[in-house]
Amino acid sequence: MNIKSIEPIAISLPMLKPVIMAGEEVTRADNVLVRIETDDGLVGWGEAASAPVMTGDTLESIVSAVHYLSSVLRGRDPTDITGAHGAMDGRMYGNHGAKAAIEIALYDLAGKAANKPVHALLGIKKRSRMPLLAVVGGGDFDGDLRDAEKKKAAGFTAYKIKVGIDSAAKDAARTRAICEVLGPGLLISADANQGFSVEEAIAYARAVSGCGLDFFEQPVMADNLSGMAAVAAVDARIAIGADEGIHALDDIRRHHERHAARGVSLKAIKLGGIGAVVKAGQLCGDLGMSVNISCKTGESSVACAAALHVAAVIPNIDWGLTLTHTSLGADITGHPVPTLSSHTDALDRPGLGVEVDEDRVHRHRVRIASRDVA
Ligand SMILES: [Mg+2]
Repeated sequence: MNIKSIEPIAISLPMLKPVIMAGEEVTRADNVLVRIETDDGLVGWGEAASAPVMTGDTLESIVSAVHYLSSVLRGRDPTDITGAHGAMDGRMYGNHGAKAAIEIALYDLAGKAANKPVHALLGIKKRSRMPLLAVVGGGDFDGDLRDAEKKKAAGFTAYKIKVGIDSAAKDAARTRAICEVLGPGLLISADANQGFSVEEAIAYARAVSGCGLDFFEQPVMADNLSGMAAVAAVDARIAIGADEGIHALDDIRRHHERHAARGVSLKAIKLGGIGAVVKAGQLCGDLGMSVNISCKTGESSVACAAALHVAAVIPNIDWGLTLTHTSLGADITGHPVPTLSSHTDALDRPGLGVEVDEDRVHRHRVRIASRDVA
């Protein structure tokens, strides 16, 4: 079995409602699907979200990179994923979004070929049921309180409040009010998406001290590790998490060594694939760091299924699993990844375990002018 074709497909999916975070308002989900077909007719799917402020990837850059990488992949055995990574890294530096989308499609193919779910190719299943992290991200005080109440009633046990949007004092007041609505016994986090200065992040952490916030993600710019450590020193009850700062295993080690973070959010688009996310999860287990497995805002059931397979095998997901297809107004699979409000179950069908509906894909397709260099 050899790879016959690799096609990047840019799509733009509607969001149910905009997600407002520091530096970005996501009103539509602009993602690239990768469709890989083998010479015996098997098809695998992968996906990467454009994420200009997180990975530097735009729709156009991901499409171009997939075209550029395809020449070293065509004709290869799709189940040799280590070999595919070597070939891609030899052809092109970085471009983790494109490499992740290709690798996820290869895992889908390898699983279908072996009649095994992707999690069985990634490791040993450690859990069948995973807690979902609910995002409260409207940025509006009353709307967020109603949203938090609704999600609590639906049974969610883990929450993330988007902050870094307003002043530290206003964001802290909104956080305190949401924590009060949610009450004790739940995992509650805030994510500033690099939106605060060190002084603002420290003021925010002081102002929310004692209100039940368990962790505070990416308070300041990704490369400011001394700033992260300064925020971490404010209140031992509020662990600091790194997200935008983690693009490689060494980033995790550096944050740990410098007391800049006690946990991380891991995404395939940042690390260059789900194999790398599993390795990062194992490293966090060795270092005693907390882990959230996450998709970028607005990824479809393809990327969400891939994240779910990772979450089933890594040592711990004590900071929950963030699936984002539930925030979409339209998905591209016939049946979206099923969620049971507060939890989701491992997918045990072959490959990713989701069926892409090509009619839906073409309905949401965006034409990207790109030079095919292969
Ligand atoms: Mg984040």
